[in-house]
Amino acid sequence: MLDKNREMEVIALCQKLVRAKSYSGEENLAAEELSAFFKEKGFDEVTVDKYGNLIGRIKGNRPGKKILFDGHLDTVVVGKEADWEYPPFQAEIHEGKIYGRGTSDMKGAVAAMACAAANYAQDTDREFAGEIYVAGVVHEECFEGIAARNISALVKPDYVIIGEASDLNLKIGQRGRAEIKLETFGIPAHSANPEKGINAVYKMSKVIEAVRTLEPTSHSVLGKGILELTDIKSSPYPGASVVPEYCAATYDRRLLVGETKESVLQPIEELLEQLKAEDPELKVKVSYAVGKENCYTGETIEGERFFPGWLFDREEPFIAEALKELKTLGYETEITQYNFCTNGSHYAGEAGIKTMGMGPSRENLAHTMNEYIEIDQLTKVTGAYYAIMKALLV
Ligand SMILES: [Zn+2]
Repeated sequence: MLDKNREMEVIALCQKLVRAKSYSGEENLAAEELSAFFKEKGFDEVTVDKYGNLIGRIKGNRPGKKILFDGHLDTVVVGKEADWEYPPFQAEIHEGKIYGRGTSDMKGAVAAMACAAANYAQDTDREFAGEIYVAGVVHEECFEGIAARNISALVKPDYVIIGEASDLNLKIGQRGRAEIKLETFGIPAHSANPEKGINAVYKMSKVIEAVRTLEPTSHSVLGKGILELTDIKSSPYPGASVVPEYCAATYDRRLLVGETKESVLQPIEELLEQLKAEDPELKVKVSYAVGKENCYTGETIEGERFFPGWLFDREEPFIAEALKELKTLGYETEITQYNFCTNGSHYAGEAGIKTMGMGPSRENLAHTMNEYIEIDQLTKVTGAYYAIMKALLV
């Protein structure tokens, strides 16, 4: 376990990161704080990529595996600050908890990763095989896995540890997610003479009803490949006395292991073909939604909203080794899966890198008002990251 100095160090770093407000695309202050810590602790290399991802590197004296600790620096927004019990960007400590936006999701984990790496380098005097990378990642909250693509291209890690909240359990998988866009195209007309046009919303309502009849895919561990309508809009809007010529509906699709961009769209495309055969007037299109966001570096980040699922076998040696080391130290770690989507969608789902999750706090603290992290969890996860380094850097 951590000594008093190291405990105070991780608490202080977590507080500094929370005070550096960092909504998605505005992570520069938090990146500066983390960068200052890396430099103060003598990390061998500190780099910022084009999107603003910050990567600190510590090199062991012998060649070996590369382990990447991934924590995002962005947070969701706060809403009404006045409704918070304690101010969301001051990181006040009350009864063993640090309060503020991003404490649990996930600046506490980022602080713990940075401190654990520094502690490990100091204790071993770098007499270990391999390299440790700690990445403060941008744009995770609505774009999981996209900025991470650039990090894995730069680092080429053998192992990735995702620090999202896991209550100190080891996570070996998650469902992925995709945003699917359905569009119908009609013909505008004055609504006093609707027969002169084709109402795109009526067409869409038929499509929606048909899509609801599709059976979801399923997986014995990860559950169902849910397809749920999340929004709908028509154009022109407002449609004052106009038959709408366009309608778009968005679906959230939870992805199971092995599902591809093609395999997910296929049953929908088949259904649409069938509907078109029945209704020659129907003009409809299905595609993945594309996201585009600005980074604090001035760069834009863009990608289709398709984030694959992933799952490792609990007997995989890298998981078994990490678990063994944690148990030796008295952690009551269990092996489970994340219920939400993480940067693991890229590392494991797209790039096939051996990935696991380990983080402080229960996941239901994320995105809440009065978000906090228990100091006990923060210090314990710092020890857990240290243990994982020890288990894998051999
Ligand atoms: Zn998160």
